[in-house]
Amino acid sequence: MSTSDTPLLAARGLVKTYGTATALGGVDLDVHPGESVAIMGASGSGKTTLLHVLAGIVAPDAGSVTLLTRGASRVVTEMSETDRSRLRREEFGFVFQQGLLLPELTAVENVALPLMLGGHARGAAETHAAQWMAALGLAGLEERRIGQLSGGQAQRVAIARAQVAGAELVFADEPTGALDSGTSAAVMTALLDATLTQGHALVVVTHDPGVAARCSRTIHLRDGHVVDARTADPATAGGAR
Ligand code: ADP
Ligand code: MG
Repeated sequence: MSTSDTPLLAARGLVKTYGTATALGGVDLDVHPGESVAIMGASGSGKTTLLHVLAGIVAPDAGSVTLLTRGASRVVTEMSETDRSRLRREEFGFVFQQGLLLPELTAVENVALPLMLGGHARGAAETHAAQWMAALGLAGLEERRIGQLSGGQAQRVAIARAQVAGAELVFADEPTGALDSGTSAAVMTALLDATLTQGHALVVVTHDPGVAARCSRTIHLRDGHVVDARTADPATAGGAR
């Protein structure tokens, strides 16, 4: 059986409204192994909502998200909150603009956390975490607190943490939004390499055309709908002025 034709994640007809705001107006999306998908669109177009629905953080009003990993077909949108929470912790990786790192822990403790929450012993978890840190160019920074790292280093710690438990799907929301362009490129390289060399997939929300250009595919959202790139809101690509 060809695996490349089988998506890791299949979303159909996703609808989400908040009061009178249509965050998602019926979105379909397949994410395949080894693929990196950039989600672009103006502020308020539904990017974060889509990412959160795909990742099982937010339940849609209608539509389905199906996960096709581990030889099974699981409908995320029919799972209980408890099961979705376990899924997020054990099978998905997350990198957000502010890395959601715990400032009271050291860098290596932050990276090891998903493994320890998954029941691994501290020593083994930190050894594995240190290997991921080294792979991301963070050797020697294991004992630093998050506040003692640069923005780029902190984002690499977040990437290491997203990868450490072997997540097949990594979700990132503006992961380079707070970084200068040079650091942004390096962090994006680390994120793409870490995800894609393992045949995993990355879904990344970004305003940065440079980030999107590094991904294998870009979808554009406008008012909660996927639109053709050529008709996408010009504000999407223009940035602030
Ligand atoms: P983007 O990430 O593209 O800026 P969002 O997905 O955050 O867009 O938001 C899409 C729309 O849904 C916006 O109109 C926003 O105001 C609304 N929205 C998103 N999240 C919430 C929420 N938790 N409560 C109310 N409205 C929300
Ligand atoms: Mg957003």
